[in-house]
Amino acid sequence: MDRIDFRSDTVSWPTPAMREAMASARVGDDVYGEDPTVNELEALAAARVGKEAGLFVSSGTMGNLAAVLAHAGRGDEAILGEDSHVFCWEAGGMAALGGVMPHPLPTDAIGRMAPGAVEDAIRWDDPHVARSRLVLLENSYGGKHGYPLPPEYLASIAAVARRYGLALHMDGARLFNAAVAQNIDAAELTRHVDSVTFCLSKGLCAPVGSVLCGSADFIHHARRARKILGGGMRQAGILAAAGIVALNEMIERLADDHAHARLLAEGLAQLPGARVNVDMVRTNMVFFELADDVALSSEQVADRLRETANVWLGTNGPRGFRAVTHYWIDANDVRVLLSGLESVLAQS
Ligand SMILES: *Cc1c(COP(=O)(O)O)cnc(C)c1O
Repeated sequence: MDRIDFRSDTVSWPTPAMREAMASARVGDDVYGEDPTVNELEALAAARVGKEAGLFVSSGTMGNLAAVLAHAGRGDEAILGEDSHVFCWEAGGMAALGGVMPHPLPTDAIGRMAPGAVEDAIRWDDPHVARSRLVLLENSYGGKHGYPLPPEYLASIAAVARRYGLALHMDGARLFNAAVAQNIDAAELTRHVDSVTFCLSKGLCAPVGSVLCGSADFIHHARRARKILGGGMRQAGILAAAGIVALNEMIERLADDHAHARLLAEGLAQLPGARVNVDMVRTNMVFFELADDVALSSEQVADRLRETANVWLGTNGPRGFRAVTHYWIDANDVRVLLSGLESVLAQS
């Protein structure tokens, strides 16, 4: 890449193998179900997460919204974390386009809603109240350091959802980070949910796309929802080809990204001007803050780092940062960030 970019794993470029696969992909009209490469990707994705069927969508946001539209209707309610991506960062899509009412709940230090709170949030059958229809989980949990949530927690929420007949969807944008970090198969995390979306375009490096997976019947409904959203694509095999490479070649190596994040966190812990909780760094995200005696704001520090070292860092509030590792960040890039930050802070 032309810069050292820690702002997100979404900035990752496709790998050379992806560009080759894209150039030679067999294609057809996917709205007719005739793109062989899309069909192959959807089958491969479904197999990876232990579901019957998959649906290639243009983004994680579209995958989550298509899932909500397939699970719930107008006047229905969806229970989800108050700092979840779907609630905070997806433009209110479920309300705007689905008439679905979000019911946000607090999450703990690693992004868990309490199962008892989920149960209490489920409404009784009464014409005064919205119908509880859906629970949304997120894994890894971006709002809490990208923490990977364990299967036991997912099972405890699934038990509540089942008891009350609610559907359960997982926003697994970084599902494979969550799986690799816990040294388990992704299907161990998704067996508890009815549907799951994961991104091909983040740590897995594909240029575009996510896959929504679930039962064949659910995907039939989600395919209609995708069409309503304008998401039916034609020779999308060009894009799906990169997704196939992503699923075949890019999952296990996420462990390298996690090791680099850890290396960064350990380095930051040695910097007097920075504050970091190393224990929270389990996947590819490092959240850290400026120490109180640093006179600069996070934005000023990020600007100087970009100007002096060509290192790009995301800010998180006036004192905080988020650094995300990915395929195009190696151990040396981590050292460049640490030394660049040390000099910026020394001059403050
Ligand atoms: C990135 C992300 C999404 C949405 O993905 P886009 O492809 O950017 O629309 C959804 N959920 C989480 C947790 C994410 O990090």
